Amino acid sequence: RVVGLIVRQKFPMDGSMTGDIKIVRTVKDLRAQVEAWKKDGLKVALVPTMGALHIGHMSLIDEAKTKADRIIVSIFVNPTQFAPHEDFDAYPRQEADDAAMVAGRGGHLIYAPTRDEMYPEHFSTSIQVGGISQGLCGDSRPHFFGGVAIVVAKLLLQALAHVAVFGEKDYQQLLVIKRMVRDLNIPTEIIGAPLVRDEDGLATSSRNKYLSAEDRAQALALNRALKAVTEAVGSGATAPQAIVKGAQILMAAGIERIDYLDLRDAETLELIDGPVTRPARVFVAAHVGPARLIDNMAVPAMPPEA
Ligand code: AMP
Repeated sequence: RVVGLIVRQKFPMDGSMTGDIKIVRTVKDLRAQVEAWKKDGLKVALVPTMGALHIGHMSLIDEAKTKADRIIVSIFVNPTQFAPHEDFDAYPRQEADDAAMVAGRGGHLIYAPTRDEMYPEHFSTSIQVGGISQGLCGDSRPHFFGGVAIVVAKLLLQALAHVAVFGEKDYQQLLVIKRMVRDLNIPTEIIGAPLVRDEDGLATSSRNKYLSAEDRAQALALNRALKAVTEAVGSGATAPQAIVKGAQILMAAGIERIDYLDLRDAETLELIDGPVTRPARVFVAAHVGPARLIDNMAVPAMPPEA
C-alpha cells in the first residue's frame, strides 16, 4: 500500500526546459508566456490539476486541444482545500512523471507555482460561493469549496487563458466554478469534460493510489451503486426507491462510511425526493480503505407516462 509516499523530483526553479516541456513557477513567467502566445493570435487553455496525473486528466488535455492552440496544465496541491485531518501531506506528488505525461499528450506548458507564490505571507482573501456549494461535498467537507474557489480564481486570473477545462468527475465543483466565474466576471470560458473510468468501472482519481487490491474491489461498488440507481429510475422508481437500491449495493460490499448517496437536479443540485421528472444526477461519496472517493452519473428523466 503506497500511502503517504511523497516523491519530490528535482526540477529547475528558473523556468528552464526539462525534457520536452517548459515548467514555470511564477505568475510573472506564466503571464509572459501567455501574453506572447496571445500576441501571436493563439488561443490558450488552462487545465488546473493537483498532479498525480492519470487518464482523467489526459482527457481534459484532449478536450482543451479541441478549443485552443496552446495548453497549460497547472499542478498545485492546494493546502486551503484540505482540512487538518485530511490527506494533504500524503497526497501523491510526482512532478517528473506528470511533466512527461503532459508533454506526451501534447500540452505546451506546466505551471507549478510554489506555496509562497500562491499564498504569500499575510494572504487574507477568501471567496464564498453560496447556494450551489451547499449539500454533497459542501456538507461533508465544509472547508472544501472555499479552498477550491480561492485557488481556482487565482489560477484563472494568473493565467488569463481563453478557456479552462474541468472534469465532471467533480461535478459540484464544476458548477461552483461556473457560478463563481460568472458572478465575478472572470474572463475565461469554463468547459466541462466527461468523467473518465478505468476499464473495471472505477472513476480514475489520484486517490486511487491509496487503494490496496481489496480496497479497489470494494470501491467498484460505487459505480455499481450509481448504475443501479440510474437503472431503477429508468424502470420507473422514484428517487428514494432508487437510492435504496444503490445503498443496498454499497452496504453489501461492506462500505460503512458513506458521506452521501443523493439524486439531485443536474443543474441546480436540488435534492429530488419523488419521481424523477427532470434531468438528474446521482452522486456518491464514501470512504474505502484510506481513501475518500467520489463518483457521479447522469440520470435521464423518467419518460412521461403514456
Ligand atoms: P484533481 O487533480 O483531482 O484536482 O483534478 C483536476 C481536474 O481533473 C478536475 O477538473 C477534475 O474534475 C478532473 N478529473 C479528475 N479525475 C477525473 C476523471 N476521472 N474524469 C474526468 N475528469 C477528472
